[in-house]
Amino acid sequence: MKTKLHLLLFILSFTTTSLALPPLSPVRSSDDRQLSRGSTRALEFNEALLPDGMQNMGTHPGAQIQVIRLVKNAPTAVTGLRFKTVMNTRLGARQVDLITDASGTITLPSCSQSTLVLQSEFREPRYGISSRRKYYSLRVEVPCQAKTVLVFKEDSPAGQVVSIHQVIQRAIATLAQVSDFKFWDRPIRFIFPSDGDYYSNDQVNLTLGHQWDVVGHEMGHAIYDQARIGLFGGGSHKIDECYTNAMALSEGWASFFSGWIHIDLRDPDAKFEYLVPRRAPIRFEHVPSDVCGKSTNEWRVNSFFWDLIDLNADGEVSQIAAKRLWDDMLDARAGSVKAAAERLMSRGWDKSQVLQVWKLNFPQDAR
Ligand SMILES: [Zn+2]
Repeated sequence: MKTKLHLLLFILSFTTTSLALPPLSPVRSSDDRQLSRGSTRALEFNEALLPDGMQNMGTHPGAQIQVIRLVKNAPTAVTGLRFKTVMNTRLGARQVDLITDASGTITLPSCSQSTLVLQSEFREPRYGISSRRKYYSLRVEVPCQAKTVLVFKEDSPAGQVVSIHQVIQRAIATLAQVSDFKFWDRPIRFIFPSDGDYYSNDQVNLTLGHQWDVVGHEMGHAIYDQARIGLFGGGSHKIDECYTNAMALSEGWASFFSGWIHIDLRDPDAKFEYLVPRRAPIRFEHVPSDVCGKSTNEWRVNSFFWDLIDLNADGEVSQIAAKRLWDDMLDARAGSVKAAAERLMSRGWDKSQVLQVWKLNFPQDAR
């Protein structure tokens, strides 16, 4: 139900395109070579995907298809996957559009033929997942009068494409709580496998699709760009060092986005898994003391934003804070986390609270 509502909002909002503004600066990219273990040599995959397995789970009056992906051997739902199929009806053959729900399931009340051919393309108005050559697709034949589970492995080629789709769905579900999606007016193309993990001009390049935190970080750059939250830095960077204001803000915000869409705000030990292997796992709550202590450090910028919205143990208050943060940073075009903090205070955030979070996270930067 919730997913359907999100989807409806998503479709509705897409019909109202907002005015495209010129890019913030010539640099709209981030080079994240430090971020993952992925090879910089792109492999070529077959773009026509197949599930890694199919399980028959008993009978059904029509047909039921559930799509799951195994993560550490536990099933996770593949939501928001759109399929087309052709069904025989009394009025003849008819094309039907279907979409997996919050549990990854499609249910057809009746199915009079013996099998159904389901076809999906990983290409939506706002995003697409492709190799360097073409968009990925999925074609599968399932029996009628049966319950079938389509299984993807955690990091098989098809499983990695599905993983990217899952990160995008989480981002959309999270953004639906705070945004009308008007800011998202250019399609984002996710290229996998690519020659590195980086973002450049509406293209998210990925070496490994199952690295949920890295995928979320790179998508975070794309959202930061479209929502005109701030400037980009440019050049390479290291998570434990200090560099320019704009780079620390854009990199820290991208990591914050990845955490926000994946991790419960009440988690007492919020952390990434794959991001920056040299320092993994990256923890948000206690930044190690050897990490540069200034506001030009991306790890600390991530923790600063996280602390602004997780201060309250009550999940609902956190959601209100997240909505406020989103609204106040939309179109901010900030050049530093300091400018971001000042903007929040000028928009009515509790000054002593913001300063407290500032001091906590940037010990070497007295204001
Ligand atoms: Zn980055």
